[in-house]
Amino acid sequence: MHTIQQLMDGTKKVLPTALENAPAVNFDEIGKAPGLISPYLVYSGKTENNYHTAIKIQPAKNFMESEVQVRCSCKAYYHYAWKANHMVGSHLGEVMPPYERKTDTRPPKNPQKIACVCKHLITLFSFVNKEVRKP
Ligand SMILES: [Zn+2]
Repeated sequence: MHTIQQLMDGTKKVLPTALENAPAVNFDEIGKAPGLISPYLVYSGKTENNYHTAIKIQPAKNFMESEVQVRCSCKAYYHYAWKANHMVGSHLGEVMPPYERKTDTRPPKNPQKIACVCKHLITLFSFVNKEVRKP
């Protein structure tokens, strides 16, 4: 399983626009998911564009060193992240349906399969970081 730091390092290589765009992401709903899955915590949210985003985390003293599993229903997560994350045990939940290429004109996304996240998950990481620091 990858840490948040590893996923963020991968995002810088694979999907750098996610880092630029994360501050503009707004969530309609966000919070800790019900149910105890100790030692893990699950946080999930629904963005204003109706994407469903979730992370399962075992918070470490250094937040960036926390191991996580992540998931998002957006296109960026599907095309760039899920398979690479699945390979390192950091994709949360069920596998996603295979993509059938419709054209050969565009290069494949993330051909090196570097684990990474979308902008929605970056915003959710920030939220969770604040939550786990609350006394
Ligand atoms: Zn997303």
